[in-house]
Amino acid sequence: MGESYSLGLIGYPLLHSLSPRLHMAALRQMALAGDYRLYPVEPGVHATRDLSRLMERARAGEIHGLNVTIPHKQTVIPLLDDLTPQASAIGAVNTILVRDGYLVGDNTDAPGFLSDLQRVMGEGGIGMLGRTEAAHRMVALVLGAGGAARAVVYALLAAGCEVIVAARRFEQAEALQQSFQISFPGAYLLAVSLQNVNPTIHNLPSAPTLLVNATSAGMLGRTESAHRDVETSPWPDGQPFPGGIFVYDLVYKPPETALLRAARRAGLHASNGLGMLVEQAALALEKWTGQSVPRQAMAQAVAEFAGHGPMKNSP
Ligand code: NAP
Repeated sequence: MGESYSLGLIGYPLLHSLSPRLHMAALRQMALAGDYRLYPVEPGVHATRDLSRLMERARAGEIHGLNVTIPHKQTVIPLLDDLTPQASAIGAVNTILVRDGYLVGDNTDAPGFLSDLQRVMGEGGIGMLGRTEAAHRMVALVLGAGGAARAVVYALLAAGCEVIVAARRFEQAEALQQSFQISFPGAYLLAVSLQNVNPTIHNLPSAPTLLVNATSAGMLGRTESAHRDVETSPWPDGQPFPGGIFVYDLVYKPPETALLRAARRAGLHASNGLGMLVEQAALALEKWTGQSVPRQAMAQAVAEFAGHGPMKNSP
């Protein structure tokens, strides 16, 4: 028998994480031995000490790969030896690679998002992405400016899109815009406040054709007692969606968020972020094992969260 992979996820809280299901389903299908454990690290005075201990176990070869989620995607960075160019530009790590005791921070959220976006948008979407002539560039509107938004904006800019990033705290959107000026000089990236999003997009030369929710609005509480935000939508109340826009919500719990329901009621095509979750996990496992990973087995393991998928519902 070959190597047994010791993998896991660092974050807090980690209640009901789908990652163990995803990774164990893929390992089984690949006939690889291994386990995928949850490592809850509470933020606070002991977080650096607890994270450092996990890093030491990885350096010692006891742990072969780690995923990182909220709230440690940034705090883990100083404890690593290096970052991939992608993780460095995004400023967040969701995957740690162990190379002979050397820890490299990577980010598979960005390629995971792009790959799922291409899947759910179909031929039209694929045609638009990667078109770099100004007249054909896809214009994307990204809501939120936290860690996930940074990965999404990076992926969209790298695919040649024009991006408007809207956050409820304008200064957070502005900071994101400024930090990407180095990686994407000359790219079109506009920061706006969420409250002003509609007047701004009405004055653009080309209307956005993609709306991405990268805020945590509408997400089922990460703890048993924090389910109050589930009916929240990040889209400003009472405002119409831009006509024909495709809505991609990174949130996947619940499968149909308030935003997705409103989009479908408006007759729009829409998708939740479950496919991105599968893809970012598959890309991480591919890097840890050096083998191709069966997405289908992973998707089946979390099929109950699939919701309506990318199909348009009758309004
Ligand atoms: P984060 O760093 O905490 O950022 C959250 C962002 O959402 C912040 O900009 C925050 O603004 C904003 N926000 C929260 N509630 C809002 C509301 N009601 N209206 C407007 N803005 C609001 O979290 P993250 O890591 O970016 O994750 C964001 C979401 O993406 C989470 O739901 C996460 O589960 C999801 N995600 C999904 C995948 C996937 O594979 N599908 C991958 C990564 C992340 P303030 O700073 O002002 O609070």
